[in-house]
Amino acid sequence: DSTAPLYQRVLLKVSGEALMGAGSFGLDPETVNAIAADVASVHRMGVEVGLVIGGGNIFRGIAAAARGMDRAQGDYAGMLATVINALMMQNALEALDVDTRVMSAIQMPGIAEPYIRRRAVRHMEKGRIVIFAAGTGNPFFTTDTAAALRAAEMECTALFKGTQVDGVYSADPRSDKNATRFEELSYLDVLSKDLNVMDASAISLARENNLPIIVFNIHMPGAFAKVMQGEGRFTRIVD
Ligand code: UDP
Repeated sequence: DSTAPLYQRVLLKVSGEALMGAGSFGLDPETVNAIAADVASVHRMGVEVGLVIGGGNIFRGIAAAARGMDRAQGDYAGMLATVINALMMQNALEALDVDTRVMSAIQMPGIAEPYIRRRAVRHMEKGRIVIFAAGTGNPFFTTDTAAALRAAEMECTALFKGTQVDGVYSADPRSDKNATRFEELSYLDVLSKDLNVMDASAISLARENNLPIIVFNIHMPGAFAKVMQGEGRFTRIVD
């Protein structure tokens, strides 16, 4: 931890699937704890951290729609799934003595604060980790877009995307041996090459707000802290 962090305030997006561990549904407590430990170590570096967690490990509106469910209704169920994940992550972080707040885009005052931008900024300034739950609060969006939106609103200086591999590749490195990792890409590269990083609305939002996106492997212990110092393996998406 000799090097100083490169960013002062960041937003980390973790997909719901990243919480499943070796399973195929729901949450694996050890995996959640491992990610929480990584987040806590970055927080200890003095970095202000916001989190957006997906819900794909529990429910996806688009998958439900493919099976006949009303899309918007399915999306609301998906947003509720992100709240479950947020509560689990909050629990894991507080077990590590990190102060956290869950702020939900859909009001659920019994378990989470309502999302109010200025209050969220204040929490972050006070060193609390804010977990932004329920996505954007709107159907037909994703938590990728929610992550870019909250990062812009919080005036974060970088958006981190924790994935299953250590960056953006020319093809899926898990199935294609010739896949190569990009060190750096432009937003337009990602959009025009249709690289599977974040959805197009998230990339566009990041681009409009000059928000670098850093893609790294969330399952490598300590990777978040390393990448925060510019070390380790990752892909940077910039203009
Ligand atoms: N969702 C939504 N609006 C949002 C964010 C999420 O409707 O702003 C719903 C949508 O149905 C989505 C589900 O919540 O499929 C879970 O989010 P996402 O698929 O982004 O999770 P991830 O893939 O990151 O686990």
